[in-house]
Amino acid sequence: EIRITGVSKSFGPFKVLDEVSLTLRAGSVTAIIGQSGSGKSTLLRTINHLERVDSGFIAIDGELIGYRQDGDTLYELKESDILARRVDVGMVFQGFNLFPHLTAIENLVEAPIAVRGLPRAQALAEAHDLLARVGLADKADAYPRQLSGGQQQRVAIARALALRPKVLLFDEPTSALDPELVGEVLDVIKELARSGTTLVIVTHEIGFAREVADQVVFMEGGRILEQGPPSRVLAAPDHPRTREFLAKVL
Ligand code: ATP
Ligand code: MG
Repeated sequence: EIRITGVSKSFGPFKVLDEVSLTLRAGSVTAIIGQSGSGKSTLLRTINHLERVDSGFIAIDGELIGYRQDGDTLYELKESDILARRVDVGMVFQGFNLFPHLTAIENLVEAPIAVRGLPRAQALAEAHDLLARVGLADKADAYPRQLSGGQQQRVAIARALALRPKVLLFDEPTSALDPELVGEVLDVIKELARSGTTLVIVTHEIGFAREVADQVVFMEGGRILEQGPPSRVLAAPDHPRTREFLAKVL
């Protein structure tokens, strides 16, 4: 379970996250929606401490992100400890951040060997299983440039899974894709959802959120204006701003 409690974050004078609190139950799927600039990406980035919070805290299964608690005092962890704990949080971005000089399979084995300390043979075996899981068993030896955008994004998802994260964060995973490639990536995410992986997805795909998410979170101006099951937030939102937003994107 991931617990975000009263998190605020400013860039200069500009408050980008304003007292955000949110609980992500283990095995649940959370979709975050909202206009450009509402703080969605920043919130995701705080979850793996790519972004430091100014106040509030985030804990994964009771372990604070980026800090250690001693009595009433929080101490920021040193970089090596932050990296070690970041393994719990996988992230897939909009662009396909594969290493261009490595084949698909080599993209997958790098981190498990370096970070999880797996022997190469075991890392390769797991990587082949993961490529099969995202429907790319036959592309192990392809370089990123030899893959379509949808295939690259599926390799990126497999690579994130290779570290066995407790939660997987997606920041608009399909918005850089040609429309005909969106479905294959959403299908992979749906399969992860069915298998009980804890997922957080920033998305403009409202239909997808309706189908897959257990909870939908609407953000505006760094605040959560509304959250709840898709059947309510998407079909019968309480907040007029949510209604306006949905009218624009649907
Ligand atoms: P989009 O839908 O366009 O991706 P978003 O909801 O993900 O938007 P964020 O990227 O979280 O929005 O940005 C929220 C606000 O914080 C924006 O106004 C943005 O300009 C600002 N911001 C984000 N990162 C930084 C930074 N490193 N320095 C200064 N301002 C930033
Ligand atoms: Mg964003």
